[in-house]
Amino acid sequence: MSLEHSHPVKLNELYRDVIMDHYRRPRNKGDLPDPTVAVDLHNPVCGDEISLKLLVEGGTIRKARFEGRGCSISQSSASMMAQQLEGKSLAEAETMLGRFKEMMRGDEQAGEALGDLVALSGVAKFPVRVKCALLAWEALERSLEQLR
Ligand code: ZN
Repeated sequence: MSLEHSHPVKLNELYRDVIMDHYRRPRNKGDLPDPTVAVDLHNPVCGDEISLKLLVEGGTIRKARFEGRGCSISQSSASMMAQQLEGKSLAEAETMLGRFKEMMRGDEQAGEALGDLVALSGVAKFPVRVKCALLAWEALERSLEQLR
């Protein structure tokens, strides 16, 4: 697939549409009573806030919910992440986290296994926005640490 090279503008538009869709209609957004773990983070550079709550049973993430506010990058990243976390084992969540961080360091291949999240790959070129995209994932990282 050389879509990216032959149609860079169209791909960028597609990615922007995915990001704005998750920003306007966030998935997995809301409160989660009695979570196994809950982490609140905020990004002072941009003013983004993310509160991530996970319900974990038998090493599997049964429910992932987030609440928050901020820029489209931070909120869409949280929405896509939470959507994909449900049903994943903690080990799979760890793998997702590693891949997303690699994608934010500019490794485009790392994003191929991340579904809609690949839409955020272009953010890697903008260090200030990388902090926005990573906020939800830092909450996940801390959650996984607390679950160990
Ligand atoms: Zn932001």
